[in-house]
Order: sequence, then structure tokens, then C-alpha cells
Amino acid sequence: NDRLSAVDPEVAEAVGAELGRQQNTLEMIASENFAPQAVLQAQGSVLTNKYAEGYPGKRYYGGCEHVDVVEQLAIDRVKELFGASFANVQPHSGAQANAAAMHALLKPGDTIMGLDLAHGGHLTHGMRINFSGKLYNVVPYHVRDHDHRVDMDEVARLARENKPQLIIAGWSAYPRQLDFARFREIADEVGAYLMVDMAHFAGLVAAGLHPSPLPHAHVVTTTTHKTLGGPRGGVILSTSDDFAKKFNSAVFPGQQGGPLEHVIAGKAVLFKIAQTPEFADRQRRTIEGARILAERLLADDTTQAGVSLVSGGTDVHLVLVDLRNSELDGKQAEDRLHQIGITVNRNAVPNDPRPPMVTSGLRIGTPALATRGFGTQEFTEVADIIAHALQPTLTPDTTTQLRNRVETLAKKHPLYPALNGGL
Ligand code: PLP
Repeated sequence: NDRLSAVDPEVAEAVGAELGRQQNTLEMIASENFAPQAVLQAQGSVLTNKYAEGYPGKRYYGGCEHVDVVEQLAIDRVKELFGASFANVQPHSGAQANAAAMHALLKPGDTIMGLDLAHGGHLTHGMRINFSGKLYNVVPYHVRDHDHRVDMDEVARLARENKPQLIIAGWSAYPRQLDFARFREIADEVGAYLMVDMAHFAGLVAAGLHPSPLPHAHVVTTTTHKTLGGPRGGVILSTSDDFAKKFNSAVFPGQQGGPLEHVIAGKAVLFKIAQTPEFADRQRRTIEGARILAERLLADDTTQAGVSLVSGGTDVHLVLVDLRNSELDGKQAEDRLHQIGITVNRNAVPNDPRPPMVTSGLRIGTPALATRGFGTQEFTEVADIIAHALQPTLTPDTTTQLRNRVETLAKKHPLYPALNGGL
């Protein structure tokens, strides 16, 4: 018997417990989702055994005839999904995709611009101790104080002053859409490349519910596991073949060795699923859920409790709760929700007065619950539960009631029922 439970009961037990946690609680971390079982199967397949350095048809190892089929399917499907003419599906993660795209277009010491981490940017967009901050000269741009929107006038001014080689548009915690055309205009004016990192909103783009950055950017990077809801991984896309060789050689051999063909198989499955009407409907419910949550949190009783929203609402799959006027800080609010079975992450708000381990904000996302099947009614209930949980005082009785309401919702939309048989 070489099943996981027999070979390694400790790991099997932790995996089983994690399945239970995912099934019995409500996952609202904005960057998380539930990969379909078909994707889990592909990822758990014998493809993990195969070395395939190189690209389909041009490998450095024998026996690649089947993984070639898989990787070519992933490439063709993602190109069709996003209207790209170039795709590299090998980056092991979003960070690897960004590192490779930047490696292809830049030399160490070049200047890059990205949204400040504290204003919603990602580590790879120029954080001090990330590769991006160590290899490149970083000029961060920001959101405006009064409406929390990216300050495009500041982007233009900083670009003219600093003549960056690359401008990055994209975010990890920003509840609005970016103006890709304006970013490209600014990039063209100063002779910079434009890279859009659509990791967070790629699923919305795939469903046609968010403008596509593809027509505007020299290169687009994404993860495949956030709104897209596939296996953990990264992709590099472009509408031109001008940089195809550079991107490919930046990924391999520039950044990585053997590709994860089992994950690439999961990506191929995802890109097939992402072309279905059911996927589009899921993305529609994702955005609707975030709007419902925003409206509820902006209602009287929560605003009186000092709860507001960064930018006053949302156009995407997440809301950023602003607790600067609340008695609760980000850590306390995260713990409150954890106690009743809702998982979110605390997050700094722009110009946050509290330290990064505490923060004055929460990032709450709806993709995973939409994947679970949540629609208007369920999101209205979740929003009401969260609004109650963020009131200044919470009695043990109310906590129990809220926890029960969470459990009822989780039971109404079972997750991975077929996996209950164990490992
Ligand atoms: N880009 C953005 C905008 C992200 O939000 C993230 C992850 O949070 C990444 C890249 C990195 O992805 P990964 O965690 O797969 O390296």
C-alpha cells in the first residue's frame, strides 16, 4: 500500500485537515480560489516525473512527445483566450513570470516604475528587498490621497523626470481598473516599455468583464491561480512576436530549469475551462459579490462603526476595507472574521498610520466563493455577516450566531465532495 495515508500519515492528516478547513470555512482571500478537480488531477499526474528543458518540438531531453502535446495545448489555448500571438506557459509562478519578463527587457541598473507596495503594488514591482528592487532603480508611483485612484499625472511627471526603461501597471490590492491606454501613452512618450501584470484580474479579462491590457502593453504577465482559478503558476503573453525569443530564453535557461509539465497540464485544462459560459458566469458573480459587499459595508451601521472602503467602492473582485476610523485595527478585524470562519487578510491602506504587521485595512475577495457557487443571495448574507462582525463590540452570543450562519452557507455549497474519501 503506497497511498499517502499509509506512507506518510502525518502529511496525509495535514492535507486532510486543510481540505476540511477549505470545505467548512468561507475563503475570502482575494488572491485565492479553488482549482477544479480536473486541474488537481492534472497536477497530481505522472507528468511531474518528466524533464523537458526547452520548448515543444525543441527539447533537450528525449521522450517529450506527450508533454509537448500538453504544453502546446496550453500555449494555443491561452493565446486564443486573451488574443495574444505569443505565450510562454512555463513560469513556475507570477513572480517568476515578472522576473523573466523584466530580465528580457532590462539590464541591471535600469529604471523601472511600479505602484508602491504600500499603495497596492506587488513585491515584484520594485520592493526594496525583492529582486526587482535590488536589480533595478525603482521609482514608485502612488494613489491620490482624496480618491485612492492611481495618480496618472504623477505617473506622467515621474516618467518624464526619471526616463524609466519599464513602467509596470498592475496591482495586488487595488479595487479599481487601470487606464492602460494612458499608461501606454506615457510609456511611448518617454521611450519605456509597458508591462501589465494582470495576475489579480486576469479571470475578469478572460470573461470580457474587465478591459484587456493586451492591446496596450508590450508584455502582459499573469498568475493562473487567482481570479483565473487554475493551478499555481505564471504566464507571459504578448500581442507581438518581437520579443518572443527574448522572453523564452529569459524563462529558460535564464530563470528556470525543467518546466513543471504537470502544472502546465493544469494550465491547459484551466484555459479550456476559461472559454466556457460557466466560467464567464462565475466571473460575473465574482464582481457582483464584491459590489454587494461594498454596498453593505458602506451602509449606515457599518460606516458609523468607522468602517469605510478605499476608493469608496469596487469595480473588481475585491474590496479594501478602511479601518482608520474604527476601534478595530486590521489584525483584530482579521482575527474576528477568522473566529467566525471567514478567511481574509489584513492589508495596509494608503498612508496607513498603523505598522505593517497590524495595518488599518482588510482585503476581502469574492473569487473563491463565486467558484463555490455563491450568487446574489449568498453574497448578501456573507456581506451582512461581515458587517456585523466588524461592529466595535461583539458578544460571545453574536459570535456564535455568525459562526452558525457561516456554517450554513458552507454546507449549502459543498466543496470538493468527491475528495471526502481520503488520500
Ligand atoms: N503579481 C501580482 C500582481 C500578484 O498579486 C502576485 C501574487 O500575489 C504575483 C504577481 C506573484 O505571484 P506568485 O505568488 O505566483 O509568485
